[in-house]
Amino acid sequence: PSTINDVFAAALLKRPNIIAIQSEKTALTYAELNLQSNQLANLLYIDFDIRKGQRVAAILANDVEFIITMLACSRLGAVMVPLNTRLTKPEITYQLKDSMPRVIICDDVQVEKVDRQIVPNLIVVGDETTDDSIPFSAIQSQSDTLVYFTTIIAEEDPLFLMYTSGTTGLPKGALVAHVNTIHVIMGLDGRFRKVSFMSSIVAVPMFHITGLVSQVLSTIYNAGTIYSMRQYQNDAYLDLILNHKVTNLTNIPTIYSMLATTQRFKESNFDCVITVGYGGAPTYRNTYDLLKTAFPTSNLHNSYGATETTSAATILPMSYEDAQAITVGIPFDTIDLKIVDGRGEEVATGEIGEVYLRGPTIIPAYWNNDEANEYGFKDGYWCSGDIGTVDQEGYVAILDRKKDMIIRGGENVYSIEVEDTLRKYPNVHAAAVIGQPDELFGESVKAFIVMAPGTTATEEELTAFCTESLAKFKIPTNYEFLDRMPMSASGKILKHTFKVSQK
Ligand code: ATP
Repeated sequence: PSTINDVFAAALLKRPNIIAIQSEKTALTYAELNLQSNQLANLLYIDFDIRKGQRVAAILANDVEFIITMLACSRLGAVMVPLNTRLTKPEITYQLKDSMPRVIICDDVQVEKVDRQIVPNLIVVGDETTDDSIPFSAIQSQSDTLVYFTTIIAEEDPLFLMYTSGTTGLPKGALVAHVNTIHVIMGLDGRFRKVSFMSSIVAVPMFHITGLVSQVLSTIYNAGTIYSMRQYQNDAYLDLILNHKVTNLTNIPTIYSMLATTQRFKESNFDCVITVGYGGAPTYRNTYDLLKTAFPTSNLHNSYGATETTSAATILPMSYEDAQAITVGIPFDTIDLKIVDGRGEEVATGEIGEVYLRGPTIIPAYWNNDEANEYGFKDGYWCSGDIGTVDQEGYVAILDRKKDMIIRGGENVYSIEVEDTLRKYPNVHAAAVIGQPDELFGESVKAFIVMAPGTTATEEELTAFCTESLAKFKIPTNYEFLDRMPMSASGKILKHTFKVSQK
């Protein structure tokens, strides 16, 4: 395949009558999904003049309309701009002004976030339409075969304009081409998806790259079934796995940590699950141990990637040693990954530096962002801003994000290592470590802690615990106990919000 249209056409040919997507409200077979995508493509083409390269924004929860919109855009050669449903109106406005879509398709509960001066054309999913908007159901009056024949879509044409999570600052628009997505789904398939029938629960947002590419597009590539969840919920998630004998799970590590707190999870048998993928944020040893206990017969795969790498760029292979379990595995065959020092020179094996990646899954550029393009790409490599190392056998470990690394008295402190230690202390539910200005040492280590409900720990106890395994310069000198961590929609701790409040 060279475009997502080819990928979908192959799935349609293979299994037209099986369920492609089942959401909480409805289910569509591949044949039905095909017809409805044609209908929406026709509506966009005829009523809104959407042509190749134009943007169509979406503020949609995980549901059938999301996938119909993606396929309709792909058919037209248009660029889907999936926006984060949890953003506020000013944040949405920033991304709309940046992407300048001609049409926006959104859930009715999101309508008030859309500045109609910027995007006059609105298609609304749900009951609450406005006078000058079109209901999504209007697609039913369109022909279900495509009315145009002229658009030629090439593999390098953009498919998504997707904004990064904004974990380190303002989100950047990543232009993701068809070819980028195809290399990821083929890479994943080549390594892991050799199952007779694949099914996958998509509980992470489809508006982020992992949900959309590693899950939705991968499942379509396998002509499998997607079970979508509008909002993650422990019991509903367990029901889906057990009732439908789901074969593939992919999640951010925090979701598994939440699931693990339930009695039902501890008592259930997950033999149906073939692969358990996780990534997008650091995985700590205790999360891995918990997954190993819960899914003894499944393949556990930590995977590292970013919006800029169209999701997974490295992954744990089928078998690995226990010591390698919390590495992010080895790069895909198409990925050239190197570790560089501050001058951009490659370091020796085993040394620490910034992770650079190159290959067909790396986006060509950021949208409309000269500054990010200038510092984000060097000699064909994307500069990830992550600190890592590669061992003799090619396993990659991510130690920290460059922006989160703390330099105390000239020594590097990797926040992830300190967090991993703190999380091993009984009842520590979550830990986030940042550097704060220190007159004497440049920076000092501060820890934010969330304890399990009804439990406590003192600063002295945590310090004594850290002393057992961490060098003195890494031990937090300041603690703050919180009820909950500030999280992004994809479940990442938003450390920059702490840093702002420290200034
Ligand atoms: P922004 O670029 O706007 O700050 P972001 O980098 O969080 O946001 P994403 O593209 O969603 O946006 O996330 C990519 C980052 O997530 C990676 O650069 C890395 O720091 C982190 N990450 C991804 N997978 C893993 C993993 N398996 N282990 C550790 N960190 C990971």
